[in-house]
Amino acid sequence: MRCVLRLLLFLLPGLPALSASAESPPRWWKGNLHTHSLWSDGDDYPEMIADWYKQRGYQFLAFTEHNLLAEGQRWLSLTNARGGGPVFARYLERFGPDWVEQRTVDDSPQVRLKPLSEFRTRLEEIDRFLLIPATEITDRHLTAPIHINAVNITTVVPPQGGSNVLDVMQRNVTAVLEQRERTGQPMFPHINHPNFGWAITAEELMRLEGERFFEVYNGHPEVRNFGDASHASMERVWDILLTWRIAILGLPPMFGLAVDDSHHYHDFAVPKSNPGRGWVMVRARTLTPESIIHALESGDFYATTGVTLTDIRRDGNTLRLHIAGEEGVTYRTEFIGTRRGFDRANEPIRNAAGDRLRVTHRYSPDIGIVLAASEGPSPSYSFTGDELYVRATIRSSKAKSNPYRDGETEAAWTQPILP
Ligand SMILES: [Zn+2]
Ligand SMILES: [Zn+2]
Repeated sequence: MRCVLRLLLFLLPGLPALSASAESPPRWWKGNLHTHSLWSDGDDYPEMIADWYKQRGYQFLAFTEHNLLAEGQRWLSLTNARGGGPVFARYLERFGPDWVEQRTVDDSPQVRLKPLSEFRTRLEEIDRFLLIPATEITDRHLTAPIHINAVNITTVVPPQGGSNVLDVMQRNVTAVLEQRERTGQPMFPHINHPNFGWAITAEELMRLEGERFFEVYNGHPEVRNFGDASHASMERVWDILLTWRIAILGLPPMFGLAVDDSHHYHDFAVPKSNPGRGWVMVRARTLTPESIIHALESGDFYATTGVTLTDIRRDGNTLRLHIAGEEGVTYRTEFIGTRRGFDRANEPIRNAAGDRLRVTHRYSPDIGIVLAASEGPSPSYSFTGDELYVRATIRSSKAKSNPYRDGETEAAWTQPILP
């Protein structure tokens, strides 16, 4: 309809040509890049989940089932506890008997799990809601789970294995990039929850080539975003790897994503892996996979668990942010970076017997220092020229509803900028 209207207006003499959407100014699009449904280990139908996100103002969503794309014929037994009973009843009620496909095999009722190619027709809307094909490549090395999302892929990348944690990551990342090269379709891998199972250290992640993204925040309660006494937090890992990649390894910076990794859509509680905890806000002109991926790869996005930014801008030598403040909520912005000439000293962590543990080393306090901090809605930072990079973390005083862990307050993370 809109296209017809555009064409008509274009053809009418005397009227200026309408600006095509490619010429419209960039705007922020809200999305979640890590989502599970009944196609793997999530506990609801993909239409129900997409509908949940769409109704809450998300504009894009990637289902990332373990080692598969939602395609082909799949029938689910309705005696299956995850998709049957009240879960099925709600699905039937929301989408109706004309949409929901049922059959009986050997006296056992079954429901068809619709593939993405079908359910997207019911949910996608131009400029309002986009579903992007994706998968979670679910690999491991010994006991370390190594999970890598691949967004906008055309075919599943089977877990590639490898001889150590870095090798497993590298082989999977390279396989995704080879598919991109082969098909010409923009797609990208991202490293999931590095602290899950204490799988991936900063020293491993920093050496990964071709990778631009990792999860600085994942809403699954078991992924240990904040580390512990002997394990670095994801933010600490980020500063370590940025410093080493830029100053020593000659590799591009990595960007930090916030995602849900949602599995549980019925009971909302801290120990559940619920939707709505972490997302990205991407600044792009159009709501297409190509446009969203281009903006992500340009670092034109931020990760958030609730704080909204209306602008992130570099004016010459100054990085300026604008926070959409809420009444009665305070915000503290820290501009974080590492200066040239930093102390490179770092030490492995050992157990009581003196054995080296395979965990992120302890680094000097020069790494990821707070360069400046400010309160209020319009924080800014002027580069002095000796920073390797600068990024910002904005912490709000507002308690997060249904948090990843008790006591969590809302936050946002902007992407590193090189002076
Ligand atoms: Zn995972
Ligand atoms: Zn996952």
